[in-house]
Amino acid sequence: MTRILAAQTPEHIGETVTVAGWVHRVRDHSKVLFIDLRDRSGLLQVVAGGWTPEAYAALKECGSEDVIEITGSVATRPEKLINPNIVSGTVELQAASVTVLNKRTTPLPFLVDEDTSSIDEELRLEYRYLDMRSDRMRANVRARAAMFKLIRAFLDSKDFTEIETPLLSAATPEGARDFIVPTRAKGKFFALPQSPQQFKQLLMVGGMERYYQVAKCFRDEDSRKDRQPEFTQIDMEMSFVEQEDVISLNEELLIKLVTELYPEKRIQQVPFPRISYAEAMEKYGTDRPDMRENPEDPNLLAFCWVLDFPFFEKTDAGGWTFTHNPFSQAKPEHVEMLMKGESIGDILTTQYDVALNGFEIGGGSIRAHRPEELRQTFSIMGYSDEQVEAGFGHMLKALTLGAPPHGGIAWGFDRLVMLLQGEPNIREVIPFAKTGEGQDPLMAAPSAVTMSSLSEVGLALLPDKK
Ligand code: ASP
Repeated sequence: MTRILAAQTPEHIGETVTVAGWVHRVRDHSKVLFIDLRDRSGLLQVVAGGWTPEAYAALKECGSEDVIEITGSVATRPEKLINPNIVSGTVELQAASVTVLNKRTTPLPFLVDEDTSSIDEELRLEYRYLDMRSDRMRANVRARAAMFKLIRAFLDSKDFTEIETPLLSAATPEGARDFIVPTRAKGKFFALPQSPQQFKQLLMVGGMERYYQVAKCFRDEDSRKDRQPEFTQIDMEMSFVEQEDVISLNEELLIKLVTELYPEKRIQQVPFPRISYAEAMEKYGTDRPDMRENPEDPNLLAFCWVLDFPFFEKTDAGGWTFTHNPFSQAKPEHVEMLMKGESIGDILTTQYDVALNGFEIGGGSIRAHRPEELRQTFSIMGYSDEQVEAGFGHMLKALTLGAPPHGGIAWGFDRLVMLLQGEPNIREVIPFAKTGEGQDPLMAAPSAVTMSSLSEVGLALLPDKK
């Protein structure tokens, strides 16, 4: 018999149906047994008693988290036994036969029929496949999917093309350390992308005009509540646009996302307020201000745009480095300063960040599409012509082969989901997250590799420092 879901059972009153799922809870009232069966749609109450001796005996053997299949008839519940808290609360299934599809034989490291947030996190991550059986975690995983779906539909309707870019490639600077991947070509390494920055710009040179991607990015930096070594961006780039175009499209999408998927939430101010970096630092002491009128309100969302960032900042060694993105264009009125290399600390960039309740959830810029501007940025940062050629020659060349003006943005997707789902850190909304220390306790990674794997890629480990 084809399986139906718990949530569908109320449509089958009086019929014989088959359901399958996990034993959520067992309640043994001596002569009558109740189990709550859980599937992806929710819970169903199953009942067996002496009137079905075989089903009763089989159910009696079942323990939490066994996977079982039950055939039985769907009966309405008396009015006073209706449970509005479960998807099938108006009915119950009277079991006629029970098949155990997989017996749980290992003790459960923790219970999953309740909220797991107070359980040791490392243990939860080691057993993430159990953890995600809990309501809250399942809701978090599903929330991502709902958001992806809405974002894709929106961007598709605006004539964007979803395009993948490589994970194995050369380094692109985003201000963090790269994860490097050794290869069998001895001494040659790939770098995992800190972002698809160069590729998305090259797609513009390629005439794609409007690109987006759900992009995995990798940055080897210390994890925090809103950082993981591997994370997800909603990445996009557009040709023939100015700052205002990128901002308004993204604002429209963020508003749509909240109003359609989180109708209980209130956006504090629309259009989103805009604040300069200088003002944000002065008033809030941070470039991702929390503008909420009432930070106690979990349903209040205070988005804001932060603009007019300095392009460069001093390095410890006294030189200059970029604050956000070396590929950005200076603000149009500051291009001349950039080209002359004057008052470098005062040059502002076209960078725009979007912050939500004190977290940066996105950032982007209009790019330098004229090669001389990009070359000058690297020269201000102290790169020699040879270094620029070696690191970015391909970008500079592309900009000489017909490059449209373009700009884009990337959202830190995990942070946005964290805030909308009301979770305290991004690990709660990443299906298979790493610990705060960047470890994966489930797969036990990172881990040592054999000497022969190392020698295949021409590597040997240095002895430990004494
Ligand atoms: N690549 C930038 C980042 O990852 C985003 C952008 O400028 O589009 O922050």
